[in-house]
Amino acid sequence: MNIARILEASAERYPNHTALVFEDRRWTYVEWLGRVRRFAQALADLGVRPGDRVAFYVSTSENSVTTYFACQVLGAVAVPLNFRLSPGEAAYIIQDSGARVLVYGRHLTENALKIAAQVRSVHDFIGCAYDRANVPEGHHHFDTLAEQTEDRNEPRPAPRADALSALVYTSGTTGRPKGVMHTHANDMAIAMNCVMEYGLSHNDNALHIAPLYHVGGMQAYFIPHMMVGGTNIVLGRYEAEKTLEIIQTERITTLFAVPTQIQEMLFHPRFRDYDVSSLRLMTTGGAAISATTMERVITEFCPNIYNGYGMTEASLTLILHPEDALDRLGSCGKPTLITEARVLVNDPAREVAPSETVPAGEIGQLIVRGPQAMEGYWNKPFETAKKLKAGWIYTGDLFSKDADGFYYFHGRADDMIVSGGENIYPREVEEILYKVPGVQEAAVLGLPDEKWGQIVAAFVVRSDPAIDAAALDAFFRASEEIAPYKRPKRYEFVETLPTNPSGKVLKRELLAAYSPAAAA
Ligand code: ATP
Ligand code: MG
Repeated sequence: MNIARILEASAERYPNHTALVFEDRRWTYVEWLGRVRRFAQALADLGVRPGDRVAFYVSTSENSVTTYFACQVLGAVAVPLNFRLSPGEAAYIIQDSGARVLVYGRHLTENALKIAAQVRSVHDFIGCAYDRANVPEGHHHFDTLAEQTEDRNEPRPAPRADALSALVYTSGTTGRPKGVMHTHANDMAIAMNCVMEYGLSHNDNALHIAPLYHVGGMQAYFIPHMMVGGTNIVLGRYEAEKTLEIIQTERITTLFAVPTQIQEMLFHPRFRDYDVSSLRLMTTGGAAISATTMERVITEFCPNIYNGYGMTEASLTLILHPEDALDRLGSCGKPTLITEARVLVNDPAREVAPSETVPAGEIGQLIVRGPQAMEGYWNKPFETAKKLKAGWIYTGDLFSKDADGFYYFHGRADDMIVSGGENIYPREVEEILYKVPGVQEAAVLGLPDEKWGQIVAAFVVRSDPAIDAAALDAFFRASEEIAPYKRPKRYEFVETLPTNPSGKVLKRELLAAYSPAAAA
């Protein structure tokens, strides 16, 4: 099996079922497969061969999924880029991947021209403008290629299971993004894993609001729905109210939203004006969701919510199922059927063997292993060797496992705060902040301090202006859930937290803004 084959299989099994909806266009499985094949032929005519990289720098759209699948048909390697990257950041990834074709979005023509001036590997540029006339001289036009190329049905060897399907770059939360090598076998494992965990079927209408350039949106959500013949509604630009409206009008049954998107919908003044009762399940992940938010989703949005933990290097590995959600608020659940997981002694100073696990309840580093685990980082043997040892991925995330086998996330190992010699896990403090009505988002980090080494600082987005430092401090003092030494010593109220499009708070940006010396 390979990823191209599963699209053909869906077209054989559900030919007239709606596969894809984008803006005012709809494609059945047969129609969409035809479009994918014509675009694949166009890429082949441009000289794209198996193993060649094709980068795409487009917003969440039909163009991104069509490009991804056209690559699979050819055995080429899809390189999805975050469309919000600056031209310089995008150029870095395109250069690093050695892509020979760049597909770019409607609003990114200027950026594409800047990239063209910097990156030498790219031979062909394909613009997605509505109108051919808006694509610069010398560049190709996406719709013209996808509509007017003749599919000559050329014989092509099926990609092998161990051939690369995609290079997916990490979010770059901790440094430069790294190209994670996914094979067809990895992506098949991820997709089947998700179909099974979520129990998806051809009756599902999925709404895609999360980035398709991340495994969470593409490998773990779009492909699984496509694999079962479901309908995929792709929303170009995410907006909270638009999402609620589409859930109602398209009778959406499954929705993946990152925690920030969920917060935006729950806090939207018109949240209650929409009928979201068609939602059969919701899934979240990509960043920590607070227990308070989980509870609100269950009671006010969709009772069946899954919290999935994963990363670009392995996609979904731990999952909290709805039947456990209320009893285990704040947990990431248990390993999925195909995943092995362990919590190891956290000692950054030395190499810790996979056998050095910590007892139940103690915090350590999570390692995971399974058929979904990456092959390695593209052109980065040194980083690969640090991250991947004997098939185990060292996640760099701190977890504990309770006596019943449920895993709890305590933050990234690098974010742990040491104040007055005590370890403080930011997430524990964030959980308390989320309990305060009027707190929409919160991020906690350690700022350098002469006396304490580090102090706990809380960055808060408030929906109620009455929430101030004194009110929050009083809340902590009244709380019996957290020790006094973990109370924030400094509060900053901000309009928004700096996040990347995967919904992750960029703590290093906060650190740079509030303590430039420490960030440097
Ligand atoms: P980089 O590796 O470039 O620094 P990144 O790790 O943010 O970036 P991703 O692969 O997109 O890039 O994110 C994976 C990380 O997201 C995990 O290591 C974990 O820290 C966090 N994460 C993912 N899912 C969850 C979840 N359900 N709960 C808590 N944290 C999560
Ligand atoms: Mg990472």
